[in-house]
Amino acid sequence: MLFVDLDRLKTVNDTHGHAAGDELLISAGRRLTGLIRPGDTLGRLSGDEFVILCEDLEDIEAAATIAARLLTGLAHPFVLSATSVTITASIGIAHTQGRDRTPEELLDDADSAMYQAKREGGNRQQVFDPQLKTVTDHHSELERDLHRAAARGELHTAYQPIVTTADGHVTGFEALLRWDHPAHGPIPPATLIPLAEQSGLIQPLGTWVLQRACTDLHRWQPHSAPQLGVAVNVSAHQLMSTRYLDTVSDVIDATQTDPRTLTLEITESAFLADETRALTVLTELRRLGVKVALDDFGTGYAALNYLQKYPVDILKVDRSFVADLGAQPAAGVIIGAIVQLARGLGMTVIAEGVETAAQRQLVADLGCTFSQGFYFAKAMPAQAITTMLSRGHTRLPRPSDATATGVAVL
Ligand code: C2E
Ligand code: CA
Ligand code: CA
Repeated sequence: MLFVDLDRLKTVNDTHGHAAGDELLISAGRRLTGLIRPGDTLGRLSGDEFVILCEDLEDIEAAATIAARLLTGLAHPFVLSATSVTITASIGIAHTQGRDRTPEELLDDADSAMYQAKREGGNRQQVFDPQLKTVTDHHSELERDLHRAAARGELHTAYQPIVTTADGHVTGFEALLRWDHPAHGPIPPATLIPLAEQSGLIQPLGTWVLQRACTDLHRWQPHSAPQLGVAVNVSAHQLMSTRYLDTVSDVIDATQTDPRTLTLEITESAFLADETRALTVLTELRRLGVKVALDDFGTGYAALNYLQKYPVDILKVDRSFVADLGAQPAAGVIIGAIVQLARGLGMTVIAEGVETAAQRQLVADLGCTFSQGFYFAKAMPAQAITTMLSRGHTRLPRPSDATATGVAVL
């Protein structure tokens, strides 16, 4: 049994409207029909979920071959009446070989396997493995808890300083979402963000982070230079939503934020999802006066011509390059090239993940004007930033004993 779940139907609905979503479902159903073998049974279970029953397969390899064919077949763009969209799917495979399963149990197994495929980023297949079932159960429990986390005050934003590389002068902060789960403790963003994206919670959560960051910035500004800024991460799902631009301008108005002090960090995957939409959103953001940073730059798949087409202000050099500095000569060459590229295009560069004095020196020599990393400071609670700024501590790194005990050291 193959459980096929389309990965981004919700985004298509949000971006192009429900009529386009319906059209896509019909086309996807037709396409799947053309990809299965005579004798296989295809059904639509609900929403964007399809199930295929293949009754006479030799082994699991044969099912994997069918799943691969479905993934390839779905990858071609769908031409709808008003637009064309590209989607992917997550496929879970369950079988009865050597196991006694009722139809309901088999469906449940296939569903679990599909969920696992989705957790790993979608656009892939996964064969059911009983051990993975416990992971999935834990995951649905987390998802349920996440729905209530904001109301229960379990979420907060931490802020990591962004500084001038040469003298460690604090110019702004990156807001990073934190969730303290009452039973499981802190849930890392690497788990939290994909979970929020899959459960459709990323939009309200993202808006919540934006609001918090702008509100906190407003509280800090009296203690700092007027151009102190805050950067907020934006997932591709948010950027693709039709409501996103309104959300940003509403939050800016409500929190009286100077748009020039707000940076939105996006990754190249935002371009891959829908180029036309990305161009519209980024152009509008620029019109609002907000800055746009390309996060984890150098690790994505986007071609460089994106840089001339899209209004981008900042390139954040991925921390993997900084980590390799000194050990891998190529890392320095790549960072140097990114700096040249940014200069030529009038963009600013921030080096991420600077952990040591030596790395700071190297990225400074390579021309990265701004830096961020544990060498200068880790992400800290908003209150710690307020204290730091009100004491006039705007140069980093601070001697570690001072930050650890909260004692003011001049
Ligand atoms: P990111 O945007 O690349 O954020 C920087 C991450 O690098 C943070 O991890 C930060 O703690 C870590 N980091 C900073 N300096 C260093 C360093 O010197 N060494 C090392 N090893 N790591 C360093 P964090 O907080 O775990 O966040 C992970 C990712 O989760 C972020 O990566 C971002 O992609 C995502 N994320 C966090 N908050 C949000 C949010 O509010 N919305 C969205 N959409 N994504 C978020
Ligand atoms: Ca970021
Ligand atoms: Ca990053």
